[in-house]
Amino acid sequence: MAKLYFNYGAMSAGKTIDVITTAYKYNSRGMKALLIKPSIDTKGNKKVTSRIGMEKEVDILLKPEDSLIEYIKKYDNITCLVIDEAQFLTERQVYELVIITKKLDIPAVCFGLKVDFKGNLFPGSEALFRYADSLKEMVAICNCGKKARFNARKINGEYVFDGEQVVIGADESYDPLCENCFLDKVLIPHSKEFQKILKRS
Ligand SMILES: [Zn+2]
Repeated sequence: MAKLYFNYGAMSAGKTIDVITTAYKYNSRGMKALLIKPSIDTKGNKKVTSRIGMEKEVDILLKPEDSLIEYIKKYDNITCLVIDEAQFLTERQVYELVIITKKLDIPAVCFGLKVDFKGNLFPGSEALFRYADSLKEMVAICNCGKKARFNARKINGEYVFDGEQVVIGADESYDPLCENCFLDKVLIPHSKEFQKILKRS
């Protein structure tokens, strides 16, 4: 029976590089890996683009209302699905991945962020944590050298802790941060309550 894989990490963990090389490994050996990306992410449009400049056009740009099963019915002889930005999958699309792996016997390899800029799980990641057969953490590095778990949002060079989970078109950037740096630079400076408690202790 085919497996559903979820390889997750913070920003700059090298996920997109792995997306491209995983698809390449199959396709260069005459097999068909379908490259899929949820369309909520607009950077690069129909392309997946890594920070070191590697890029590849996707086969399917998936809208939230799209059915994965309807899409893959149009293709013959698919060896596997490779999914970038899997945190943006809907819960229903993750259910479809479970059906595709278990009933159609096609493996699916997902790559994505675990948490948003507030440290909350993305809906796609949450569903994948529940249903994936294999979970693998990919390591990103904080500015201090420790393992980064959080994706802090910066606007005009300042860390922010308010806003929507997904922002499209704004000039925000993200820093991978470890727990300590996330507390010191983001959570505590934005929480009067925690500042008060810490002062007392
Ligand atoms: Zn750190």
